Amino acid sequence: MNAQDNCIFCKIVAGQLPSNKVYEDDDMLAFHDIHPKAPVHLLVIPKSHVDSLADCGAGEGQVLARMMLKVPELARAAGCSNGFRTVINTGPDGGQEVYHLHLHVLGGPRHAWKGPLP
Ligand code: 5GP
Ligand code: ZN
Repeated sequence: MNAQDNCIFCKIVAGQLPSNKVYEDDDMLAFHDIHPKAPVHLLVIPKSHVDSLADCGAGEGQVLARMMLKVPELARAAGCSNGFRTVINTGPDGGQEVYHLHLHVLGGPRHAWKGPLP
């Protein structure tokens, strides 16, 4: 069995679990976090499984760059008119809970954010 066989984000990529998608192309997927910590809380993931940022190498360089460059457009489209935060939690001390690399995008009026933030 591969690590990704039990990976919820791989299952979302494969359409085996539902998600509220906001963007998809050949390499990446973006969808709403199931437990939003802010009025806008998106997750951006590569379609190809990699556990975390610490497991990325040159092979992930292109998709990482594409994900990062897509964020402002996704944030704007989701209604972030006054900025946003991007977060990548890595490993146990980084607070990572899902071991499929993902980038959080948080936005909306600050008074409406809920702690603890991701
Ligand atoms: P981490 O702590 O690993 O950086 O963040 C994992 C995030 O994934 C959490 O914010 C959590 O709410 C979100 N999440 C966990 N399971 C699911 C799911 O099945 N669907 C969606 N859309 N988000 C999920
Ligand atoms: Zn995965």
